[in-house]
Amino acid sequence: MPAERMEIHRLCIVGIGLIGGSVALAARARGLCREVVAADRDAGALARAEELGVVDRGYAEIAEAAEGADAVVIAVPVGKTAAVFEALKPVWSPAAFYTDVGSTKASVVQAAERVLGQVPANFVPAHPIAGRELSGVEAALPDLFAGKRVILAPLPHTDVRVLERVRAFWRGLGAEVHDMSVTHHDHVLAATSHLPHVIAYCLTHLLGRRDEKDEIFQYAAGGFKDFSRIAGSDPVMWADICLANRDEILSLLRRFEAELSAFDKLLADGDRQAIHDYFAAARAARQRFLDRYSGET
Ligand code: NAP
Repeated sequence: MPAERMEIHRLCIVGIGLIGGSVALAARARGLCREVVAADRDAGALARAEELGVVDRGYAEIAEAAEGADAVVIAVPVGKTAAVFEALKPVWSPAAFYTDVGSTKASVVQAAERVLGQVPANFVPAHPIAGRELSGVEAALPDLFAGKRVILAPLPHTDVRVLERVRAFWRGLGAEVHDMSVTHHDHVLAATSHLPHVIAYCLTHLLGRRDEKDEIFQYAAGGFKDFSRIAGSDPVMWADICLANRDEILSLLRRFEAELSAFDKLLADGDRQAIHDYFAAARAARQRFLDRYSGET
């Protein structure tokens, strides 16, 4: 379904933070919907979303906001998804489409199975590969998804017409849409996003704990600033992501430890050529990655 033919009467966003707010702004700016409503447990976030013109109306009750909506986007931290399914259950509509934005997908699917018996055929798990280190509706941007990838993780029993509507929706927000299985998504994202965040948090911890009062942070430009940027991300969201994708991340951490040990040995041996070759291979791999996927986060 082409995005230009998509018209949503009532778009409901559950969780009006950075990502939910950006979906609302983009949908409005691109004329995808007539009205946008939101539900959030944070009354302040709802008030700010109304003030900023991100939504037409905010609701404290999820069921009230979702009732009568023909599109519902769940945009809460992944650990809260089950509670949102609970609230949506009594008003779940076969006429609407449902999608989410969670950074892990197996946990979202399991939450749906636990609460709803099975993943409804009109729910399409999704993950926009777009974001910022900031949280909250104030940080929302109407062009956050423009030119960025969104991964859809449909299940074998997902309604094909709903899948195409959800695809058209995300394309309508400016994104490039790709499909992936739930398990493949969590495997890939553990390596490209979850492990780098964990390492950034660990390094920042190491230096912060040892040298907080010392001069290291006075000189924290360049490498440390770049490397630690993602450690500025929301701890609530990242605790949820790590627990939700624990096994994949643990397995990568074991491999990373082995990698550190291998480098440790090169350095201990003082093998200049081997160290140079190790860095050169990593740099070439990074360049190949940038050449192929430049502009993506
Ligand atoms: P956010 O800015 O913190 O917004 C989340 C909002 O949901 C907050 O207002 C929060 O309220 C609300 N909320 C939490 N639990 C709720 C519940 N049970 N019922 C109703 N509202 C609830 O977070 P975000 O960065 O937009 O992230 C949202 C989702 O997007 C997460 O699943 C994350 O994995 C995914 N994601 C994030 C990024 C990124 O770069 N940030 C990128 C891609 C995907 P409180 O403040 O009271 O908790």
